[in-house]
Amino acid sequence: MYKIGFLEISWIDILDILLVSFLLYQLYKLLKGSIAVKIFLGFLSIYLIYLVVKAAKMELLTAILGQFIGVGVIAALILFQQEIRKFLIIIGKTTAFNRSFLKGLLWKKNSQPNADGLNLNPVIESAKILGGTNTGALIVFAKSSELKFYAESGDLMDALISKRLLIAIFQKNSPLHDGAVIIANNRIKAARCILPVSENTDLPAHLGLRHRAAIGLTEVTDSIVLIVSEETGQISLAINGKIHTNLSKSELKQKLHFYLFEDEEKIKEGEKEEIEN
Ligand code: ATP
Ligand code: MG
Repeated sequence: MYKIGFLEISWIDILDILLVSFLLYQLYKLLKGSIAVKIFLGFLSIYLIYLVVKAAKMELLTAILGQFIGVGVIAALILFQQEIRKFLIIIGKTTAFNRSFLKGLLWKKNSQPNADGLNLNPVIESAKILGGTNTGALIVFAKSSELKFYAESGDLMDALISKRLLIAIFQKNSPLHDGAVIIANNRIKAARCILPVSENTDLPAHLGLRHRAAIGLTEVTDSIVLIVSEETGQISLAINGKIHTNLSKSELKQKLHFYLFEDEEKIKEGEKEEIEN
């Protein structure tokens, strides 16, 4: 128990404040650059108008806006449905509870069960060849989740990974070329899968749906998505909601190795370094 003037502060209060700051920061990260900010500002302006109207004693308008404000919580729940979902996903994904505690308790040290033992060479080679012929491609590497839900949105395959098969899938006249291929447990699990498109409004405008879908999936799961652009032939990787564009073969190899096989501690360090550079 501390005393600052007339204030009495206990450890619980400090913990309380820290937790609230953490939640607000997560909320800020989530809303930053999304349409939700505009909705929130809309809400805020209605509330301000309401206050002005009320002060000016305009009864009818006050009553109407008052009704609106009255159902504000429910309206917010509906309007921010997507953001609330993402918020809960982020909490579930980033808390220490999920990361180390549960994993240590339930699983072996292996933290990327679906990427273990994966041979990257055929994938990298095929991406290079597809890029060289300006053939678009979208390849998902599963990490801690098998991505069942997304695999089922496409055609299930369960095939051995081979360079020629990947190239064949993404040919423009192939019936399987549309959408994404999912790689999990060292197999091509599915093709033609539909990924969730990112709603981040900070992304460069020239990125089309293929790139946005890749980024979107890495916002809600820990998977890594490789994109070959049909327009430019460039190869990019989406990781943790961010996109690394125009990668050379060696950069591609290095990044895939790093994010698929190194352990989580190292990845955290690596991300810090990337931010500092
Ligand atoms: P590119 O540089 O290859 O043109 P882009 O980012 O500009 O890529 P689009 O031109 O819009 O993207 O690419 C369209 C292709 O992306 C579609 O033909 C489809 O195969 C794929 N695609 C679009 N949306 C999704 C999605 N939600 N999930 C999976 N694949 C998608
Ligand atoms: Mg395009």
